[in-house]
This record gives sequence, structure tokens and C-alpha cells, in this order.
Amino acid sequence: MRPARRIYGLETEYGITVDGGRPSERGAEPVSADEAARYLFRKVVALGRSSNVFLRNGARLYLDVGSHPEYATAECDDVRDVVVQDRAGERILNELADEASARLAEDGVTGRIHLLKSNVDSAGNAFGCHENYLIRRRGDFARTVGELVPFLVTRQILTGAGTVRTTPSGPVYCFSQRSEHLWEAMSSATTRSRPMINSRDEPHADPELYRRLHVISGDSSVAETTTLLKTGMTGLVLDLLESGTRLGDLVLADPMRAIRDVARDLTARTPLELADGRRLSALEMQEEYLARVLAHLDGADLSDTDRRVLELWERGLRAVRTGEHSLVDTELDWAIKKRLLDRYRTQHGRAFDEVRTARLLLAYHDISPRDGLAATMRARGLMATVATDEEVARAVTVPPQTTRAKLRGDFVGAAQDHRRDHTVDWVHLKLGDLGQRTVLCKDPFASTDERVDRLIAAASAPRAPLGGGAPA
Ligand code: ATP
Ligand code: MG
Ligand code: MG
Repeated sequence: MRPARRIYGLETEYGITVDGGRPSERGAEPVSADEAARYLFRKVVALGRSSNVFLRNGARLYLDVGSHPEYATAECDDVRDVVVQDRAGERILNELADEASARLAEDGVTGRIHLLKSNVDSAGNAFGCHENYLIRRRGDFARTVGELVPFLVTRQILTGAGTVRTTPSGPVYCFSQRSEHLWEAMSSATTRSRPMINSRDEPHADPELYRRLHVISGDSSVAETTTLLKTGMTGLVLDLLESGTRLGDLVLADPMRAIRDVARDLTARTPLELADGRRLSALEMQEEYLARVLAHLDGADLSDTDRRVLELWERGLRAVRTGEHSLVDTELDWAIKKRLLDRYRTQHGRAFDEVRTARLLLAYHDISPRDGLAATMRARGLMATVATDEEVARAVTVPPQTTRAKLRGDFVGAAQDHRRDHTVDWVHLKLGDLGQRTVLCKDPFASTDERVDRLIAAASAPRAPLGGGAPA
């Protein structure tokens, strides 16, 4: 026995800013995020005639009007692959940002484009990191979601990105910034689980068999190990639920309130009220989820990835329980960031709320190897890794090999190489030429398909001259 195979995908929206401006008589005019994003996507639009494209690694790269650049990884069936694909997305965006910055300079703008893998920009707009999990369609979706919510509320004591909150009594370090925004956005709403899981039913798979669970409450993760834990532990809890285990005894009385209270309490010991009237802390609840997952997996044939996830989950809880944050301060974003701030404070004697500390926090999320902190911290062993540089570099052009992503990626690659118009989404592949049929790929687990082989052959074949060449 091993956990059921599952499809995972991660969507990351990025904040975008330019740290300079356009010279004018009144000094530098700032470049808006919209304009910066247009510069960023100019090359993408030139190649694909759209700001919404699928890439040869199977991923989707797009820009919603006036909002944030987004990279959605291709389908993976192992959370380690999710890490690799997500980091490949950073690399693709960094290359686009470098080119866009060069073009801004040609147009007289000083400064460079920065892409921030975070969840709130300087103007206070919140944006997201969405996790996608394939689940089997059953009649009890609402119950499954309801029982997953308290897990999502409490997992932030491990997977939160960490932030500093300004309070009347001074700055306070918290597990998650996004939680605060979710709470503010939804504290007056009646449907209390809605901001954590998007209930739109769009499975990108056979709708008779599957649903796609779309979790929208999590922080973006910078450290690869945090991405691994976040998606891995959630997959294991879904495996528990799908095996028929109920977790209804851990349902919270007020999850929206709890999400903020958990984010604000670095001890994770404040009791939360459960629907049945009992009270448990976030730490106790996470210990309970881990214990139940371990009991469920007892004797199972676990993959290296599952083992790594379980080990980090246990160690993370130990770090929170004992206050020994050094147990995870190269692996979990909130702990890595806290260590960075603590060291900065002791070295410079500056408090949290000063401008330079705010810059340090921004730099933590800046994905540029030149301007951001992550690349240096990785090189110095201050931020752990999961993937090698070679794997990430390869994933820029090579799709995951064990899912539908391979079919899509290989098709897009062939169409690009032979300059053939093509139309693609998560389930459809089509050569643009009139008369070609659309190939429907309903099974996200299938990485081979003869119909797609034929489509790739057609895309790669020399084309008949226009008009078919028949004499009039
Ligand atoms: P939008 O952002 O336009 O509102 P969306 O959030 O629903 O749409 P996309 O941004 O297109 O979706 O990203 C879809 C994500 O779901 C990708 O990461 C993809 O790998 C993943 N995915 C695709 N098919 C499945 C599936 N059958 N089950 C789980 N995840 C899937
Ligand atoms: Mg999306
Ligand atoms: Mg989404």
C-alpha cells in the first residue's frame, strides 16, 4: 500500500514593481505595475500573440488585465516535481524581467523590474498562490472540504511565509500575512470556508471521476522545502480523507476568526474553539493530523518524498512546541525570515518597523538572483533546497515526464519549433490550421497517447504549399 497517485499543480501570482522611474520635469515619474507588466510580457506576446500562453514545459504563463503575472506549473504527480516546476517558473520570469529592464532602460527609464513572490504589495493589494489537488469525485465533497479547512487554518504554523505586523504596542512577528488579509476580506461574510477553497467545479479531467480542489488560502513559499511541505502534507491529509477516515471531530467553530488568531500567535498554543465545544491549540491540532496520517500510513511503502515531508512536518511541530526554531530555520519560510530579522536587529540595533527592515522583507521575496536574498542564502546554506540547479534549468523547457504535461509540452515544443499555429489548454491540443481536429486529453495521469503522437508528427511534417499546388 502507498498513498494514491495524485495530480498537483501550483499557481503563483507575482507582485511587480520598478525601483526607478521616467525622468520628467517634476522628477522621476513612477512606472505603474500595469506598465511594467506590459514590458515584461512584450516578448511573450510577440511569440505567442497573446499574454496567455502554454509553454514547452507544459506550464501556463499569463497576465490578467491590470493584475499580476502568473505562472501555473504543469501537472505533477509528485510534490518534488512541483518544487522543480515552480522554481523553473521563477527562472523564466527572471529572464523576462532582465529583458524588460533592458528595454525600459532603452526607453529612458531608470531602475529595474522586480518580481516579488509574496502575497501583498506595497499598496496593500493581496494576491495569491493557489494549490491544485486532484481528488476523486464523490458525493461528500462539501464534507471533505469542511474537514480540510481546519487543517488549512492550522498548517500555517509550519507553512506560513512570516511577516511583521504593526500593532499599537509595537511590531509583532506573525506566521502569515495572507491570513490577515483573508480575515479582513471575509470577516463579515457568511460562507465561512469560501476564502480558503475555491469551489468552482472545473476539474480539467474527466468530470465523472474527478474534481480539482483549488486551495487559495496559502502563502506563496520562497524556500523549496516550504513548498514541498505545504503541498506534501496537504496531499497526505487528502489521502487520509479519501481513504474514508473522517476528521469531523476537529472542525472549528469559527475558521475565519481562527485563521487570523493562529497567524498572530507564534507559540501556537492559544486554544481554538471547536464546533463540538472542545478547545485545542493549533499545535495540538497539527500534532493530531500528523498522528492520524502516520497511523493511516503505518506499514505503507512510502516514497522518498513522502518520508521527507513527514520528517519535516514532525520536526516543524517540535520546533514550534519547544521554541527551538533553529530546528527548521533553513527550511520553513517563517523561521528563515525570523532568523534573518533577528540577526539584522542584533547587528544593527534596528527595530522591526524601520524602513530598512521593510526592505529586507521585500528582498526575501524578490526572485531575482541579483536583487533578492534567496539565491545568496541558498549558496551559503542558510536556505535549504530540494531541487538541483540542473533540474530547475532543465524544467524550463522539459515538462514533467509522468503526467499529461508531457503530451502538452512535447506538442507545444514541436509546434513552436516548426512555427505552427496551435491552440492549447489544460485538456485540449489543436493545430491551428483549419480542418484539424482537437485532441481531448481527459486523463491527467496519462503521459502517452497515440493521437498526440500523430498530432506531433503532423506539426513536424513539411507543409503542403498554399492552395494545395493543384493547377487551375
Ligand atoms: P484562473 O487562474 O484563470 O482563474 P485557475 O486558477 O482555475 O484559472 P490555472 O491558472 O489555469 O487555473 O491553473 C490550473 C492549475 O491546475 C495548474 O497548476 C495545473 O497544473 C493544475 N491542474 C491541471 N489539471 C489538473 C487536475 N486535473 N487536477 C489538479 N490540478 C490540475
Ligand atoms: Mg490561475
Ligand atoms: Mg487559480
